[in-house]
Amino acid sequence: MTPLLEVDDLRVAYGKIEAVKGISFTVEAGQVVTLIGTNGAGKTTTLRTLSGLLKPLAGTIRFDGTPLTGVPAHQIVARGLAHSPEGRHIFPRLTIAENLQLGAFLRKDTAAITHDIQRTYELFPILGERAKQAAGTLSGGEQQMLAMGRALMSRPKLLMLDEPSMGLSPIMMQKIMQTITELKASGTTILLVEQNAQAALSLADQGHVMEIGRIVLSGTGADLLHDESVRKAYLGED
Ligand code: ATP
Repeated sequence: MTPLLEVDDLRVAYGKIEAVKGISFTVEAGQVVTLIGTNGAGKTTTLRTLSGLLKPLAGTIRFDGTPLTGVPAHQIVARGLAHSPEGRHIFPRLTIAENLQLGAFLRKDTAAITHDIQRTYELFPILGERAKQAAGTLSGGEQQMLAMGRALMSRPKLLMLDEPSMGLSPIMMQKIMQTITELKASGTTILLVEQNAQAALSLADQGHVMEIGRIVLSGTGADLLHDESVRKAYLGED
């Protein structure tokens, strides 16, 4: 079966700084794939390139059987690739419900949109309880839930999550990881960027370790979780 996403020898630069130096990986439908690595490894740059926000220097991206390279960002969303960015980028003055509506901005099926908003409230009850409040009043973890809920509102074939656990309390982080596990169980395909390697590898089918723009190690989540070099570098073991 052709993978849902195929990234081949992707290179991305900011001016003269090459942030991604030729990476290749695939995501099969139904899988959770994670990119882990320290600050500046090029993970966010990779996701931003996949969503069309940055233009690659070289390489190819194929999604759902067609090339994505050079396709504008809004068309990429329309093709089924949604991005929940690092730092969340919710609209703080709009209500929670309005933020979710915005995630469906390309859809016209009003009844189904309403249904999906209800589903989001089932996934994240706090969002339902506070639907009419300004999103800026949510805690960091709740804003993260909103960002994920909003990305899901486009009914994506692939959901990309950039550092969903960043800045969250351990309990909130657990809740977010639990939700990702639930989304996976319901068949959502996910590309997850995380600095919390332990959490990400525990739920990923496949993982790739990035260091200064390159993938230096790949394997199943379980393999990487038990790999000695990964344990030393990313799981804080001596
Ligand atoms: P982080 O977790 O800190 O976001 P990351 O693995 O996602 O790390 P990137 O944000 O993709 O890494 O950064 C990769 C490299 O590109 C870094 O060296 C970074 O300094 C550089 N970089 C990122 N954004 C820009 C930019 N707008 N202009 C110039 N260089 C940038």
